[in-house]
Amino acid sequence: MEAFLGILAAIAAVAILVRSTRERRAAAAKPGGSAASAIPVSQFGVMDAVVAEQRCSCRGRFALRGEGPVGTGGRIRRALVECRECGRERSLFFDLTGVEHAMGDH
Ligand SMILES: [Zn+2]
Repeated sequence: MEAFLGILAAIAAVAILVRSTRERRAAAAKPGGSAASAIPVSQFGVMDAVVAEQRCSCRGRFALRGEGPVGTGGRIRRALVECRECGRERSLFFDLTGVEHAMGDH
């Protein structure tokens, strides 16, 4: 009986792992889900608007928890957002090339 329960626990653990990997891949495939699909923005304020437009898989809205540069180029920024309903965290990537161009070279 104990061995049987152990096998059940192992199957459940694998099922949870597969599910979370699939959800992560699905999130990464959406615009802004990865650095490669970063959402181009022309103004910093647009980032807040895009975050406000996003919906969690529970249909909750996201709150911006923080953001910072990705890599050394400074053109890609990653925003950490958290669902107000279920607390799920997601990363959104933004391409700020247009913003830097508008501000000129520093
Ligand atoms: Zn949620």
